[in-house]
Amino acid sequence: MGPLLQVYKKYLISNAVVRPIPPNFQSKGLQTQWVISTRTLVEEISDDEDVVPVKLTYTKFIDLIKYMNIKDQSVDILAVIIFALDRKQISRDGKESVIQKFVLVNEGFQTVKLSMWDAFVNDEGQKILQNMHKFPIVICRRVRVGYYNGMASSTWFDSVFLVDPPIQEARELKNWALRNESLLLDIVNQKLYENHDLELSFQPSQKFTQDCNLTGMQKAAWVNVRFSFENTFQRYWYMACSECFRSTSAMHGVAFLCNSCKEKHSAQPRCHFDVDLEDETGTVTTSIFGDLAEKLLIFTVTEAMDHFN
Ligand SMILES: [Zn+2]
Repeated sequence: MGPLLQVYKKYLISNAVVRPIPPNFQSKGLQTQWVISTRTLVEEISDDEDVVPVKLTYTKFIDLIKYMNIKDQSVDILAVIIFALDRKQISRDGKESVIQKFVLVNEGFQTVKLSMWDAFVNDEGQKILQNMHKFPIVICRRVRVGYYNGMASSTWFDSVFLVDPPIQEARELKNWALRNESLLLDIVNQKLYENHDLELSFQPSQKFTQDCNLTGMQKAAWVNVRFSFENTFQRYWYMACSECFRSTSAMHGVAFLCNSCKEKHSAQPRCHFDVDLEDETGTVTTSIFGDLAEKLLIFTVTEAMDHFN
C-alpha cells in the first residue's frame, strides 16, 4: 500500500473504477475490486468513530478443531501474541520458504501457535516483533487450522493481519494482557505453550478412528483403545537437542551444533518408550515422549537415565 492510504484511517474515495476480480484471484466472498487511478480523488476524513466498523466473528480457540485440515475453510482469530519463536528457512516442495511461529493466547490462557510464511514474515511479522514487549493484539483473518504438535494455525495466500486494531474488543484484550502480564510471562518462560492442550483438541463429540483404519497420511487421530505394555526391555530415554528434541550423540549438558536447528543447543535427556494400543480391529505400536511419558512411567527422565544406562 502506498503512503497515501494508511491502515486505520478513513478516506472518502471517488471516481475509482470497479472491476470484477478474475476467478483465480478471488478470495472467499470478494468478487469485485476497486482500481485507483490518477483520476481518483482521495480525501482523508477525521472523526472519532471506530475505523473497523465491520463486526467480525472470531472463532474461539475451543472451536478451531472443527476447521482442522479442512480445505477451503479458514477462520478469523482475535488473540494476544506473547512470544515469537525463531525464524527458520526451510525447503518446501523444492522451494525455499521462510517461516516464523508466534504464540497466540486467549483470555482463558490457552495457547495456539500461528505459523507465518514468507512475505507475511517480513511484513506483518516485523510489525508484531517490534511491538512484542507490549503484548500486540492481532486479528488474524482467513488463517487455516491444522495440526502440528497440537492445534495450530497458519497463514494462507489471502490471510490478512490487523495488529493492534483500534477497536473496543482489542483494547479490552490488551488491558487483560497487561493485567495478567506475570502469568503470560510464565507461559513464555516455562514454555507452557509446548504442552498439549487436551481441551483444544478433544471434545465430547470427538470421532474415533479404529486401529485398522489408521493411515500414515493422518496427521492426528483419536483412538479408543486398551493400553498394553509388554515389551518392558526398553531404554526409556534418549539424548536430545533441548530445542527441537532430535536425538544426538552429544553428552548430557554439552552444547552441540544441532543439525536440525542449525544452532548450538544443550544435550538433554528426554523420556521415550513404546506401548501397544489395541482395539477389536488390531494393535498399533505407539511411541510416547516427554512429559506424558514421564507421567505414565512415574519416573523422571533423570531417574530413567540413571536406571537404564
Ligand atoms: Zn535442535
